Amino acid sequence: MTKGTGLVHTAPAHGMEDYSVASQHNLSTDCLVDEDGVFTAAAGPELQNKAVLDEGTDVVIKMLQASKNLLLEEKLVHSYPYDWRTKKPVVIRASKQWFINITELKATAKELLKKVKFIPGSAQNAMVDMMDRRPYWCISRQRVWGVPIPVFHHKTKDEVLINSQTIEHIAKLVEQHGSDIWWTLPPEQLLPKEVLSQVGGPDALEYEPGRDILDIWFDSGTSWACVLPGTDQRADLYLEGKDQLGGWFQSSLLTSVAVRKRAPFRTVVVHGFTLGEKGEKMSKSLGNVIDPDVVINGGKDQSKEPPYGADVLRWWVAESNVFTEVTLGPSALNAAREDISKLRNTLRFLLGNVAGFNPETDSIPVNKMYVLDQYVLHLLQDLASKITDSYKQYDFGKVIRLLQAFYTRELSNFYFSIIKDRLYCEKANDPKRRSCQTALAEILDVIVRSFAPILPHLAEEVFQHVPYLKEPKSVFRTGWITTSSVWKKPGLEEAMESACAMRDAFLRSIPGKNAAEHQVTIVIEPGLLFEIIEMLQAEETSSTSQLNELMMASQTTLLPQDPPAMPADATELRGTFLINLEGGDIREESEYKVIVTPTTKEKCPRCWKYTAEASDTLCPRCADVVGGK
Ligand SMILES: [Zn+2]
Repeated sequence: MTKGTGLVHTAPAHGMEDYSVASQHNLSTDCLVDEDGVFTAAAGPELQNKAVLDEGTDVVIKMLQASKNLLLEEKLVHSYPYDWRTKKPVVIRASKQWFINITELKATAKELLKKVKFIPGSAQNAMVDMMDRRPYWCISRQRVWGVPIPVFHHKTKDEVLINSQTIEHIAKLVEQHGSDIWWTLPPEQLLPKEVLSQVGGPDALEYEPGRDILDIWFDSGTSWACVLPGTDQRADLYLEGKDQLGGWFQSSLLTSVAVRKRAPFRTVVVHGFTLGEKGEKMSKSLGNVIDPDVVINGGKDQSKEPPYGADVLRWWVAESNVFTEVTLGPSALNAAREDISKLRNTLRFLLGNVAGFNPETDSIPVNKMYVLDQYVLHLLQDLASKITDSYKQYDFGKVIRLLQAFYTRELSNFYFSIIKDRLYCEKANDPKRRSCQTALAEILDVIVRSFAPILPHLAEEVFQHVPYLKEPKSVFRTGWITTSSVWKKPGLEEAMESACAMRDAFLRSIPGKNAAEHQVTIVIEPGLLFEIIEMLQAEETSSTSQLNELMMASQTTLLPQDPPAMPADATELRGTFLINLEGGDIREESEYKVIVTPTTKEKCPRCWKYTAEASDTLCPRCADVVGGK
C-alpha cells in the first residue's frame, strides 16, 4: 500500500515477475532495449536508437497522442531503483546469462547438510529455506574485472563454443599466466589447435571470447578446493554472518557437492549483525556506523571517542550473544572495559603473590596442601573443564560468564580474602604459605590460558611477567590448559561447604564489623560433620588453624558439646548441614551451633589480627616469624 503508483504493467523483458508470468503463458519475452538503454530496431524506426528514459519516453507519449490512445499525462513522484554508484535510474531488462541447474544438486546438498552441525541449530533450516527459494544459480556477471567464463561466442549466430578440450587448454593458460590471459591473448591462441582447425583455422575464426565473468560467489564458494588438502577433506568450521546462508555457505556447499558429493564443512557457525545502541541498523548513508578502528584507537575527539583497545572490543564480541543481533555503543564498551579491569586486578594479585615462588622447588604436594587450597584447585579443575567445553561449543559468552563468576566470587570475594594473612604474615618459605602459592600458580596458569583466545594481548603481557618463567615462550606456543586429576576431590566440598555455612552465619551476625575482633565457638555433636570439621582444626582452640583462617576470627574453638558456661555477651547461632557423600549413599543431617563473643585478645601490630596477649605486643605467631629472621 505504501509503494508504487497502484498501476501495474506487464513488460516480460523488464522484470522478474513479469518474465515468469510471460513464460508461463508463452508470451514473447523479446527485449526491445539494448545494453546501452536505447530502443533496438525491432521497436520500429520512430523509436530506434532513442534512450528509453529520456527521448524515448517523449516519443512514446507522442505516438500515444497521435493514435489517440493517451487519456491523461501528468508528472508523478514515485520510488524507482537507482544505481548507488552513478546515482542514475536503472533500466531493468532481460539479458542472456549462464545458469547452473541446481535442482539435483539441492537434493544431495540437503541430505548432506543433515550431517553438518549448525550453531545455532536453527540456522540449518534457514539455510535449507534459502536454497529452496533459489530455482537456479545465475553464475555470469557483466563487470569490467573478474574471473572470465571461458566461453566463445559466434560473431553473428546465436552459437557458443565450449567443451572439455577448450576448458582444459584455457585452464593450463590460466595456470601459467593468470586469469587476465583471457583478455590479453588473441582468440586463436585461446583455443587448442585441434578445436581451432575444426572451426575453420586462425584466419577464418568466427568465434570471439565472451566478456562475461563469474559471479564472485562462485569464486569464494570454491575456496575449499584451494585450502583443503586432499579430495575428501572437510573444514572443521565455516564462520560468517547470517547473510551468508544464501551466499558463501551456500555457494561453497553447492560447488563442493557438484564436484565431490560432500559438504565442505563439518560445522557452520552463523552470527547476527551489530546494531547501534538503541537497536537501530548501522548504515553508511545514515552515518551511524561504528568503526572498529575508532573503538580501538579512539576518534578525533578522544574525550567523546576514547581509545578502548583491541582487547575491549574482543571481550565485548565474545560476551555478546552473537547468534542474534547485538547492540554496540559506549555503555557496552564501558562495561567491557570495567570487566577487564577487574580481571586485571585479579591477575595483579596473582602475579604479585607468586613473586619469590619457584614451583619446581617450592611446590607443596596436593595431599599436603591446606584443605582450602586443595578445594580451590578442585574448583579450578571444574572451571577448566567447563571452559574447554564452552570453547568447543563456540560459546564464548559462557567462557566469559564462567571466568567472571570464578574471579569475582571464588577468588576475590572468597579465596583471596582468606589467604592474605598466610601470604603476608607467615615466613616466606613457610609450607602454609607455599601451599597457597602452589594453588595461586596453578590458578594463574589456568586463568591466563582460559582468556588467551579472547584477550590475546593481556594474556601475553601477563605470561611474560610470570616471575618463575625464565625466558618464557609465547602463551600461544605452550599449549592449552592442563589440569591434574589429583585436583578433583568431591569429598572436600562437604568440608568446605559446611565450614562456609558456619562462617556465613557468623559473618551475617556481625554486619559491618571486623570478624577478627570476635572469637567463635563451634559446637557439633560427635558424628560425621564433627569429623569433617575436625580435619580443619585438630586442637580444641586455635588462632592459626585452617578452620580459624576460614572464620577470619581471632580464635576458633571446636567442641563436641556445649561449653560449661556461656558468657553474657555471647550470640548463639544455630544451623543444620546435610552431608551428602558417595553420590547420596551417605546422607546425614547434623546440627551445629556457632557461639560468637567479642575477643578478649589484643590487636597484633604486625598482622592486625586480635591474637596478641597484650596491647602493642606481637602475637605468638608474629613473634615467631620476626624472631626467626
Ligand atoms: Zn600477628
